Amino acid sequence: MSHSASGHPDVIVVGAGAAGATAAFHLAQQGRGVLLLERGPYPRAKPCGGGMAASMQALFPFDLSPAVDAVIERVRFTWCLGDPVTAELPGDAPFWIVRRSVLDAYLVEQARAAGADFQVGVTVQALRRSGDRWHLLCRGPGGEAQEFEARAVVLADGSGSELAGRHGLGPARPRFADTVSVEVDCAVAEPSTARFEFGLVRHGFCWAFPRQGGYSIGVGTFIGRDPADADAVLTQLLPSLGLPPDAGDRRSGQLRIWDGHHPLHGQGDNTGLVVVGDAASLCDPFLAEGIRPALISGCRAAEALGPWLDGDPAALADYSRRMRQDWGESMAWGKRMAQVFYRVPRVGYQLGIKRPTAPQRIAQILSGEMGYGDIAQRVIRRLLFQRR
Ligand SMILES: Cc1cc2nc3c(=O)[nH]c(=O)nc-3n(C[C@H](O)[C@H](O)[C@H](O)COP(=O)(O)OP(=O)(O)OC[C@H]3O[C@@H](n4cnc5c(N)ncnc54)[C@H](O)[C@@H]3O)c2cc1C
Repeated sequence: MSHSASGHPDVIVVGAGAAGATAAFHLAQQGRGVLLLERGPYPRAKPCGGGMAASMQALFPFDLSPAVDAVIERVRFTWCLGDPVTAELPGDAPFWIVRRSVLDAYLVEQARAAGADFQVGVTVQALRRSGDRWHLLCRGPGGEAQEFEARAVVLADGSGSELAGRHGLGPARPRFADTVSVEVDCAVAEPSTARFEFGLVRHGFCWAFPRQGGYSIGVGTFIGRDPADADAVLTQLLPSLGLPPDAGDRRSGQLRIWDGHHPLHGQGDNTGLVVVGDAASLCDPFLAEGIRPALISGCRAAEALGPWLDGDPAALADYSRRMRQDWGESMAWGKRMAQVFYRVPRVGYQLGIKRPTAPQRIAQILSGEMGYGDIAQRVIRRLLFQRR
């Protein structure tokens, strides 16, 4: 690793998920000294459908295809397992399925190859600023106290982040979607079709994404405080895929979702801190798309930290501004759409998803070609006034 003259890294990245590994890679590639800290053993399994826009390739100078499990050519929507709508994804904008244990480890490998140092089994417990440096108080793999220091810190510690809120980054009271995910190893009938089912889950949807040797299946609830009875939903969904109703290992979790514009960089005593990915509450509140914003924010945070480390004090504000412009504005519409759609999902399905133009729009949203802002006003008006 290249260290600054102090012998310490320039930047410490907390968390080696998609967001942290991306930030570590881009910082290391700039020639910065980077230390990436991960509390878990690694590679680690991560409950996630793994659906990701292929357009994310543009963020990296290396080929992402070794991390791609399946290429999706078609998306099928259903209402109570019937009334299907199929969207063919255009050939130039495919949607990928990645396995997170593979993608995240691959990004970490690239970050290490670019010069980042990586330590596993290290839990960052607190941050303290002293002079122009951040001190990270950690618990090491054997439970021992450890301390690291750097000029800047990227918080990439995921949906359960406590560090972001403690330092005034992101929303003070984050909002969460409830999720249950199931991994099933089996033969897959249509290996390039991703399915979304809207009628079985109150206030949310369930999905079945094909991957190598099986499916990633899940249930998500996006509004309200009553999580879906996921077992009851899965008992209906799994047989429709030719699976026993109780197949697979189930893991429930809370996913932090976008809930308003907030600064993603620290100010005053918190200068030199940025937050990325789920820790920054960037995940789409309508469809739970969190990999794309994790990768975009990791990349943009690294781009802003470069000039900041070189002495431009305003550079980190540019990171918050760009994320608001390139992601937050679309998510503000996604949140409004979720609030209307998931309250009247039957109407939403009939008037929103079953429209002749909807499959193409949905394909464009999933591929990252369009944002919610391009369609939301018309969709919301249609749902509120229940007009075609
Ligand atoms: C069931 C489910 C299905 C989903 N499906 C999709 C999908 O199909 N497509 C999509 O785009 N998104 C999906 N998402 C969302 C997506 O998984 C997340 O948005 C994404 O993982 C965010 O990446 P991240 O790097 O910010 O966080 P994470 O991947 O959670 O990484 C955070 C890392 O930080 C580490 N860490 C945490 N605290 C500390 C600490 N104190 N010290 C050191 N390390 C720490 C953790 O161990 C972890 O490795 C889904 C989410 C769920 C729950």
